[in-house]
Amino acid sequence: MNSRVRFAPSPTGHLHIGGARTALFNYLFAKKYGGTFILRIEDTDELRSTDESVKSIFESLQWMGLAWDEGAMPDGSQKGSYGPYVQSAREAAGIYKKYAEGLIKDGKAYHCYCTPAELDDMRKKAQLEKRPLKYEGNCRALTEAQKKDFEAQGRSPVIRFRMPDGGVTAWNDLIHNGVEFENKLLYDFVMIKASGYPTYNFACVVDDHLMEITHVIRGDDHISNTPLQINLYQALGWKIPEFAHLSMILGPDGTRLSKRHGATSVGEYRKEGYLPETMKNYLALLGWSTPDSRQLFNPGELEEKFDLKGCQKSPAIFDPVKLQWMNGEYIRKMTKEQLVALAMPYLKDAGINTAASYVPVADIVGLEQGKYKLLREIPALVKFFFAEAEYDEHAVDKVLKNTDVLKILDGIKQVYLGLDEFKEDRIEAATRAFAKDNGFKAGQVFHPVRVSLSGRSDGPTLFRMIEYLGRDEAVKRLEKAKELAV
Ligand code: GLU
Repeated sequence: MNSRVRFAPSPTGHLHIGGARTALFNYLFAKKYGGTFILRIEDTDELRSTDESVKSIFESLQWMGLAWDEGAMPDGSQKGSYGPYVQSAREAAGIYKKYAEGLIKDGKAYHCYCTPAELDDMRKKAQLEKRPLKYEGNCRALTEAQKKDFEAQGRSPVIRFRMPDGGVTAWNDLIHNGVEFENKLLYDFVMIKASGYPTYNFACVVDDHLMEITHVIRGDDHISNTPLQINLYQALGWKIPEFAHLSMILGPDGTRLSKRHGATSVGEYRKEGYLPETMKNYLALLGWSTPDSRQLFNPGELEEKFDLKGCQKSPAIFDPVKLQWMNGEYIRKMTKEQLVALAMPYLKDAGINTAASYVPVADIVGLEQGKYKLLREIPALVKFFFAEAEYDEHAVDKVLKNTDVLKILDGIKQVYLGLDEFKEDRIEAATRAFAKDNGFKAGQVFHPVRVSLSGRSDGPTLFRMIEYLGRDEAVKRLEKAKELAV
């Protein structure tokens, strides 16, 4: 049997780390077993669902390379024959109501007329009496006359599921193993709201069934929904899918990952200059590992190695330091041409005129490729190749305000003007010869030259940097830096 899995985000905000991890695991599962990965939009929260969120979720999934085989598409179309793939459209097509009415007919669901205020009172009472906070089924056995009466009062009913009173609901979770809930702890949950809209628990089961989902892979914050959903499957006489609940993601301090820990959405990480390959690799390791604890994966390897057996039930810790390290690893693996293509928007954003360099931008950006951790860091490190150097005060004080610096800068300027070829090795040889001939230590010359040309005391390998600046620019800056040296 072909497996069918789905990612079913509620579009009430951007795609978060946890959601992206769920999407990724579903995607990897489908790839590994030749299954189908479906994207379903669960917009049953009428107040909080927005089109911008849908768009942003599409963008983040596409950016991470998590192409879905079926589902709602960014251009408004749909791919696959189980549509519509957006729950509001499914509601409009009358898909949910039909099943709710069938359950009412079978005595497995009922209309409930309790008002929010009444429900609130019940909750308060339960709290006072230290009983579990759950709906006690007041409307389970209303007579036709009582219903008419409520309707005459203008009350619009919700439809609730009639939960069995005794027994247990259990399943064999593919990650958490045996999970069991006593039915008396479950409650008659709302399936259809007063607005006529289905709730998550109801729409999810109807859709997972109609879309022939074989494996429900989702965050373990949904574990408490699963017994409700299983009871619904049973009441409808439907086959229950396999469930795999992914471990919770905690911040480095051991509390649930949230805004307090910094960026939480995929879009924010993208802006910071993380690569999609990094996000994919890093998120794969949040709650999953290979037997040999592999950290870095080549393209296609995750798809090959992923397995629910490698998923842990204990919480995963989100470690931003490791994420940055990993991004550096991926940046290093790229060609400088690939890197510059990705860096270009950041350079433009920083107002850098990339046409103003003496050598191709890729050569410049590639100079410190081994050091970058984030694309966002690149502009500040390369800016001096494209515009006048901005002098770091500390570097000027420490390196340029020294005896002999004036003499050194002037001497080096003459040396550079006299070189027949302005190439790295020639520049190096001539600079060293100048130091030696004039009784300076190499560093005594290199440091002021570096600061004069770049404004900074650290940076790319010195003589290549000088070659890439070009002779005219180098000479101009040496001359200018003499003013700072005095
Ligand atoms: N819409 C739900 C959520 O975003 C999906 C849960 C599920 O996968 O069943 O949390």
